[in-house]
Amino acid sequence: MANPIDEHKARLLEERDHLLQQIERLREDVKVELEFEADEGDPELPEREKNLALLATFEERLEEMELAIEKLKDGDYGICKNCGQPIDPERLLIVPEAQYCVPCKTKLERRGRR
Ligand SMILES: [Zn+2]
Repeated sequence: MANPIDEHKARLLEERDHLLQQIERLREDVKVELEFEADEGDPELPEREKNLALLATFEERLEEMELAIEKLKDGDYGICKNCGQPIDPERLLIVPEAQYCVPCKTKLERRGRR
């Protein structure tokens, strides 16, 4: 039987590579759009802003993935950063880089919205 941690690790590494590729592509797009901007004025601006926002989201996710990969190495992967309880494996399947269990995440998001 495969070790679930190994599976998580493989998934994380795979997703990280995928994310890195997307980030590279977006960075290229943003750069190209910058070069065109001077001549063509503003029509591409909303597209560029969208790409920049997307890029920021991806980079944030990448950072969380790097953290999760570090945790895998340390052996404390899948432990909630807030309450120290194991994170629901179902959740880790969907969000392999999850840092918080569902109750803590919900609490934190609510607090963040206020
Ligand atoms: Zn928690």
